[in-house]
Amino acid sequence: MNYQVKMKRLVLKIAGVLAAFTGIAQNYTTISHVDVFDGSQLHKDVYFTFKDSVIISISKQPIKYKGAREIEGTGKTILPPFINAHVHIANVNNLKEALNVGIFAMMDMFTLDRRANNLRKYNDSLYYAHYYSSNVGATIPGGHGTEYKVKIPVIEDSITPVKFVRERIAQNADYIKISQEHTMALMSKVQLAEIITETHKHKKLTVVHISHLADALQLVELGVDGLAHTWYLKAPLVSKEQLDVMKEKKIFIIPTLSVIQKLKDNSDSTELKNQLSLEEVFNEVKKAYKAGVPILAGTDAQNFGMNFTTQFYDEFILLSKCGLSNIDILKAGSSNIYNAFKLKEFNNLAPNSIANFTLIDGKPCLRIEDIYNQKKVWKFGIEITT
Ligand SMILES: [Zn+2]
Repeated sequence: MNYQVKMKRLVLKIAGVLAAFTGIAQNYTTISHVDVFDGSQLHKDVYFTFKDSVIISISKQPIKYKGAREIEGTGKTILPPFINAHVHIANVNNLKEALNVGIFAMMDMFTLDRRANNLRKYNDSLYYAHYYSSNVGATIPGGHGTEYKVKIPVIEDSITPVKFVRERIAQNADYIKISQEHTMALMSKVQLAEIITETHKHKKLTVVHISHLADALQLVELGVDGLAHTWYLKAPLVSKEQLDVMKEKKIFIIPTLSVIQKLKDNSDSTELKNQLSLEEVFNEVKKAYKAGVPILAGTDAQNFGMNFTTQFYDEFILLSKCGLSNIDILKAGSSNIYNAFKLKEFNNLAPNSIANFTLIDGKPCLRIEDIYNQKKVWKFGIEITT
């Protein structure tokens, strides 16, 4: 049974039990005169109907469903499930806070195996965002990830790249994260290649932490699937030919402008001298976007104390400074992530898909700042906003 069918049955079962207790028949709900951004395109002034946990129709004409509850949607927009594509979750409450503001899933990009497996236990719970994780990221002695002084497995003589990847997969890693931080110890080309090859054998993706364009290009050449940050260290800027290679190899970029901005705020003058300016970083992302490289929204919370709620929408505003259209920003937070990570739990809003959506006051497709407005969230057709 696939995940969506399984969840649909579970929710129907809950709904049935509720109906038995309350005597209320399970009805259709129609949100009328609402704009719907389905993950790819905008449907203006439509009727959006769902029944139990399933979307029934998105139509220009009103369709009468017997006993349908109606919600007035004038001036509002329905948004697809958003996902924060780069986080480090501190505790389970972060999953709850995120879902409450329309972030239906979070992708952890480096944590302990034990913590990841504990958080995965909430993946069937109604009130928590779905949790994906790389578990521990791949690094070497002195490499990025070791500076926190937490005991983690690192790639060395006793743990080969192949062994490291197999262990993470055995610990339920959803993808493999590689750490290649330019200012710390760097992995060899051979080690990187072995990690990528072994990960692909298990039909999983590799995502890499980089800060320097040269490292990004090396990883692209070796077949990595996505960049977990954009490059921001001072170096020759990316060329059209290099971006064409990224496009051709179907690389995605999670720029995490949020963390780059915070990092700059916390850098001293010597460190700043080695970094691109924020405007230059925006321009590099703009070039990647214009070249057709998929851009994904992620913040890298909780670094620098960033939260798991509004910071995600701050990232949207930062992406708008890179020239992304409002629709493309909303895609960066939804369908670009479903597609890049080949997620089975999430898809565009459409008839027969799960009623996971957010109803927001305003029109973020026209004014991206509206993304901060009041929101109501439905998961499996149940309003969960508290
Ligand atoms: Zn990170």
